[in-house]
Amino acid sequence: MSGDADAVVAAVRAVADRIESERSHLTDLDSAIGDADHGGNMARGWAEAADAVADLDDPDAQTAVKTAGKTVLSEVGGAAGPLYGGSLVFASPELEGGITPETAVAFAETYLEKVKDRGDANVGDQTMVDALTPAVHTFKKSIETDDLPPLEALAKAVAAAEIGVQFTVPIRASKGRASYLGWRSVGHQDPGATSTLYIMEELLETAAD
Ligand code: ADP
Ligand code: MG
Ligand code: MG
Repeated sequence: MSGDADAVVAAVRAVADRIESERSHLTDLDSAIGDADHGGNMARGWAEAADAVADLDDPDAQTAVKTAGKTVLSEVGGAAGPLYGGSLVFASPELEGGITPETAVAFAETYLEKVKDRGDANVGDQTMVDALTPAVHTFKKSIETDDLPPLEALAKAVAAAEIGVQFTVPIRASKGRASYLGWRSVGHQDPGATSTLYIMEELLETAAD
């Protein structure tokens, strides 16, 4: 197995473990403005994804990401399954040549575009897009303009995602279940933005190892 694929397998396991440990917090967030299934759906799906990538025979990075995405797509229900899983599958070919700063930026941009496209969501709709967008923009700028080392760029992206999560609190949901609440969604932290932050934190942790 390539070193890049090893890193993907380790990252998916780390994400699965983190989501499991945050399961009840994510469920609490989703019970306030949704249907209280985000923690359970995500924990089950990412655990399955971690097993699926660990079972691959000598994969490359692209194949490992695609497999994780397919598993998340089929095992995580609701809005989050297609948004996370479908977008991972769609962006995976960007890693065809392995994981470099350039392919990582291309992957992140394609992933973001797919999430926005699938969900028809933009910044300010109180969704995962609010965490993902500043993270991806910051990552791209850090690599391409500021010429930072990949780990520093990823750390800055995580910090941007954290601000994006906080940004979801005072705004009103315009997409997803929370939008049914209208103004009552104001004051609540979006579950999907929160899980996006956790995933990014684990990518950083794994990359730093
Ligand atoms: P469901 O709402 O179907 O129960 P989940 O609870 O698993 O699905 O996921 C809810 C999260 O999905 C929200 O917190 C939000 O971040 C994200 N989400 C929902 N709808 C959209 C959308 N149209 N575009 C982007 N993200 C969305
Ligand atoms: Mg839900
Ligand atoms: Mg649901």
